[in-house]
This record gives sequence, C-alpha cells and structure tokens, in this order.
Amino acid sequence: NVRVRFAPSPTGPLHIGGLRTALFNYLFAKKNNGAFILRIEDTDQNRYVEGAENYISNALDWCSIPYDEGPGKEGSYGPYRQSERKSLYKDYANQLIDSGAAYYAFDTTTELDNIRKNYEAEGKTFIYNWHNRITLNNSLSLSKQEVDKKLAAGDTYVIRFKSDRTEPLLLEDEIRGTITIDTKTLDDKILFKSDGMPTYHLANIVDDHLMKISHVIRGEEWLPSLSLHVLLYRAFGWESPKFAHLPLILKPVGKGKLSKRDGDKLGFPVFPLLWEDPKTKEISSGYREDGYLPEAVINMLAFLGWNPGTEQEIFTLTELIEEFDLKKVNKSGAKFDPEKTKWFQQQHLQDVPAEQLVTTFKEILYEKEITTTLNIKNILNLVKERAVFTKDLWDLSSFLFIAPQEYDEKALKKAWKEDTPMLMHELNRVLTDISDFTAASISTIVKSWIQAQEISFGKIMMPLRIALVGSLQGPDVFEIAAIIGKDETIQRIEHSIK
Ligand code: GLU
Repeated sequence: NVRVRFAPSPTGPLHIGGLRTALFNYLFAKKNNGAFILRIEDTDQNRYVEGAENYISNALDWCSIPYDEGPGKEGSYGPYRQSERKSLYKDYANQLIDSGAAYYAFDTTTELDNIRKNYEAEGKTFIYNWHNRITLNNSLSLSKQEVDKKLAAGDTYVIRFKSDRTEPLLLEDEIRGTITIDTKTLDDKILFKSDGMPTYHLANIVDDHLMKISHVIRGEEWLPSLSLHVLLYRAFGWESPKFAHLPLILKPVGKGKLSKRDGDKLGFPVFPLLWEDPKTKEISSGYREDGYLPEAVINMLAFLGWNPGTEQEIFTLTELIEEFDLKKVNKSGAKFDPEKTKWFQQQHLQDVPAEQLVTTFKEILYEKEITTTLNIKNILNLVKERAVFTKDLWDLSSFLFIAPQEYDEKALKKAWKEDTPMLMHELNRVLTDISDFTAASISTIVKSWIQAQEISFGKIMMPLRIALVGSLQGPDVFEIAAIIGKDETIQRIEHSIK
C-alpha cells in the first residue's frame, strides 16, 4: 500500500519549494491509488508561527491537492500534529537507550561552547561523535549510578544517537540510486531533549513508522539526514520506507537556492498565497492574489525537476497523475523561471471554460460600471489569446466598450494622409450597404472595394484601425467592426474625420 506524507513544520508560509514537495507526494499517491497524508511537525515550539498551519492547508486546497488524512481528517493513524503525539516519543527514546543505540548526554551549553572555542582556536571544528564522545559528560563515560543520580536530580540532558563508524553505509534513493556514506563523518545527533520534546529526527522516524509510510518524498536539503534516519530504522529493527529526495529549486539568475529575496528583486511571488507575517505585519505577495490560476501553478511546479520525457508541457492535474513517475525526476537542481511561469499561466487561461471566463469578465465590467449589449463571449474569444491574466482581458478589449477619444500620435503620423478623410468617407458608404455585417463579409467586400480603387491596403486598413481602436494595435479589424456593429463602426469612422 502506497502511503506518503507531506510533513511541513509550521514555521512560516509554505513557499513554492514546499508546495512542490506536497504536489509530488500527491501525484505519486494518486498515481498508485495510495494515501496522501499531511503531518504537522511542530515539535520545535520556538519556531512555531501563528497561522502557518492554516496557510498550509489553504494552499493545498487552492491547488486542489487535498490530503486524505491529516488534521481535521482523522484517519486510523492520528493525531496528525506532532505536538498532540508528544507522549509517545519518550518510550521510543528509552527503547534506544536500553538497546545501547542511544545515550544520555549531560553536557551543558557552556561546556560545549568552551570545547567548540578550544577546537576553533586550533583551527578545527568540534563534532560530537565517536572520536570524542567518551571524554564528554555522558552516560557512555559515567557509571550507571552516576547517570541515575543525575537523572533523579533533574539535571538537564539530551538523548543522543550513537552513530557507529564500523562500515561504509549504503543508502538507497529512488532518484539518486545508491549513495555511499563514510560513517566516520557522522555526528551523534540529538534525539530527545529534557523538556520532554523529541527532535525532528526521532519524531519523524517514529511517526513515519507508526503511520505506515511507504515512501518518503522530500526536498534535497534532507539528504544529509538520511544516514541517521536509516540507522534509526535499523536500531529500532523496523523496515524503512523508500526514500526520494527532490532536486533543489534554484534562483532564476545566478547560483544557489531560490529565496524570497530573489522574488522581491525580480518581482515574482515565492508563496502560493498572500502572507501577512503575524509579528512584523510584513506582507508577501502570493500567486493566487497576483491572478494566477492554480492549474498553471501546479503545472509549473510539476516541471521543476520532473518532465514526462515528451514534448507535452501543458498538463491538467489529472494528466499529471497519469504521467507522473518518480523515476523521471531529475537529480540536478531545477532553475525557477518566472517568465515560464507566466507562459504556463497564459496557456491555462486559454483552457478556462468560456462560461467561467464570461462570468469573471462581467464582474470586471460591473466594477468599471460598464453596461453593454455586446457579445462578451465573442469578445473574449477575440482577445484572450494575448491575455496572461484575466485582468488583461479588460486592457485588451476596453476599446470595444469605450470609443477612442484620442488617437495615437505616432500612428496618425504614419497612417493619416491628406486623402484619408475622403477615403474614410467613401469607406463608410461601402459599409453602410453591407447587410450581413459579419467579419467575413465585411472583409470580402472592403477588400474588393480597395482593389477596385487601385490603392494600397494600408491606405484604408491603417486609418480604419486608428478610427476603431485609437492606435495601430489590436486584433483583426474586421472582427472588431463586426463585434461593435455597423452603427458604431460608422460613427467611429465619422468621428475620426471630423
Ligand atoms: N518537517 C520537515 C520539514 O519541514 C520534514 C522533512 C521530511 O519530510 O522528512 O520539511
């Protein structure tokens, strides 16, 4: 049974990297008829941020990648917040103490700081590991009585994992293959603190085991923790899940991991939804508020580190589920591209059902206090190809609702000649006689009239466009004429030659 989890720590808003992890977990689960679980890893109370958990579930909702089990959707393996599971971790830490896989360390922060300083003075870095753990203040160097005394006295302690240096460790990753680790380099990570809280490592492993997680899919930044996690599974005698570490998301320009600063600098959001920091009140923009469709964001994220191996780039969520394959995830970092993100948005805007787009557009018209009898559906069909966001639909079509009051200077200079008023006058006579005022018939009739006059097309088409649009821009001029209708077309032409 495939069971995967997304396990964010509620330390702030979910950025697009985290959302990509959630998405890949979701796609993998759905592809394999498995379950997608949300687990909130909130054991570090110091880093807890108000509203972050809510933000995470809202972001998943907005993207339509709902979890099957998690806070508020209790399955058989809850609760799904680690703070609510607090009581169960200590027994597991004790189990490791009893088997000798972990030990108590009573070193105070001051002691450790001093040791660190001494090491630094000699140009070395202190690592709490096999090399020096025996000389430190811990249960490996103290007698059983001394340890019991310290515990009874309520001395501050941590429980550390005893990482052995016996053999090279072979780690299996679904994306990276076999990774060999020299165990000599491992330190004795803290598993449990005397405040009664487990660290991320212990809680994460215990919960993945208890929640019967089959695959751990997470960001590359967790790869350095994999050795410890695999060793923990061994120490507990549990079968470990399969692991897949997703490639880093890189800055659009320059080197390194994408950060919020890159977004601020280049003007794109790194968060799915707008976020107001509860402490600083600082506001960060979000894709939703910036007018992106969730379908576009999902599609863009899917391509950060994965591709189907074909030419196809535009995918619906259902198609992504169909195509998704962990084996096709890349090892190397994926460059984030804000322009490509806009392109995905533009493509997905084209697929929004016409009715839905009409409704959205009518809301825009309502806000602008525009009443109209024009056919909105036709208008949107005419302009939407060039729109990236729904708000662009208005900018691209406003001239259809509001006749131009001024004309673009440059356009006039280029296209307006001495005989233009006379020709426009003639043109209006031709237009008046057209009974079937459709783009096709206007086009045929006007074009053959131009040919009969033995003048260039530009002499008519450019001033006509200026009269209807106000500039030399816009979609097909006959389509425009057909949409605004015969009377309005003729009026606009007349107005231009006044
Ligand atoms: N709580 C960790 C995080 O914030 C989870 C890492 C993992 O998936 O193991 O990303």
